[in-house]
Amino acid sequence: MSDQNPVFIPGPTNMPDRLRRAMQVQTMDHRSPAFAAAPAPVREGCKRVFGTEAGEIVLFPASGTGGWEAAITNTLSPGDRVLVARYGMFSHRWIDMCQRHGLDVQILDCAWGSGAPAERFAEALQADRGHEIKAVLVTHNETATGVKSDIAAVRAAMDGARHPALLMVDCVSSLASMPFEMDAWGVDVAVSGSQKGFMLATGMAIVAVSTKALAAAETARLPRTFFDFRDMLGAYAKGGFPYTPPLQLIFGLDESLKMLFEEGLEQVYARHARLAEGVRRAVDAWGLKLVAEAPELYSDTVSAIYVPEGKDSNALVNHAFATYGMSFGVGLGEMNGRAFRIGHLGSLTDAMVLSGLATIEMAMADLDYPVRLGSGVIAAQAHFRATARPAMADKAA
Ligand SMILES: *Cc1c(COP(=O)(O)O)cnc(C)c1O
Repeated sequence: MSDQNPVFIPGPTNMPDRLRRAMQVQTMDHRSPAFAAAPAPVREGCKRVFGTEAGEIVLFPASGTGGWEAAITNTLSPGDRVLVARYGMFSHRWIDMCQRHGLDVQILDCAWGSGAPAERFAEALQADRGHEIKAVLVTHNETATGVKSDIAAVRAAMDGARHPALLMVDCVSSLASMPFEMDAWGVDVAVSGSQKGFMLATGMAIVAVSTKALAAAETARLPRTFFDFRDMLGAYAKGGFPYTPPLQLIFGLDESLKMLFEEGLEQVYARHARLAEGVRRAVDAWGLKLVAEAPELYSDTVSAIYVPEGKDSNALVNHAFATYGMSFGVGLGEMNGRAFRIGHLGSLTDAMVLSGLATIEMAMADLDYPVRLGSGVIAAQAHFRATARPAMADKAA
């Protein structure tokens, strides 16, 4: 089976050769002056991607899940109340982590396919006159359902209630693919990882922290050592790391940021929006439905797609892999068996997306889905042709 087929899972994403080469570096003494200079420009570049000037970037050897743990353990104390909406597997897992850390989790259960309910947040925050709620946790892009939430609206709900809680956002599957504005949205901790929009290998949690969250770290009593923001920032100040850094990933991130800035962040977002729209037109042409309930919720990095009644989405994903060597995302949690996912984030072109659409069409045809072979590809082609710009335009600019 060829390893040249792109993956259409929503992370880890396809690694451009340029980034694989950048991560191919020989061991280096992380206490040497040669390494000491490496993290600073990377952290500076990350600030641009998070949309923050005031925030600090912290890089942990971990995956996104470790970033969540860093966010809560650095800012909260046992028994603290946090307000979270559950509308998919990732918001659910963050809730589970909070409960396991002994936090008092106030859960707003929402339909899977909906997004962060700003009005319900507003009600809950207004009702909390004693300011028992210490943090509001939001998953920006719910990867299980392909739903993007409006973080500015959550911030407006908090401000409207004059509520001082911290706002913590999971942007693991949106950062560096869809616009993110940490400062403008008043986000206190934003959590991401190396293996999605940054197109790198898995292994680094990339976290942005506001001054307010750093102040909270001074009194927060949840235990942490590996994930302590203060140890990490203290070490950065001296050109070091509190333990062995993921050297290859830091060099990879440096190159990833160069690629993103060369293309231009606005262009990166526009490319994702355009490819996502091509996928959505294909879904429409197949006569299938997205899990995301409304167009303003559509994610530009992943589409979750219901299979027809009586079909099993796991069988479809397994068949596409076994027969054509191509990976698509299975349905997670409530969506297991009912929906499959097409990841369309990171390093992707029109041609790559078309190959994925053509392949899943073959798999659907093999399994007797009522889908006309070629219909989705044609719909996406029409969109890509209508919105094409010369492939070299960005390089030449
Ligand atoms: C991928 C992902 C995570 C983190 O997953 P890891 O496997 O720990 O990197 C968290 N939240 C969302 C929304 C994700 O898509």
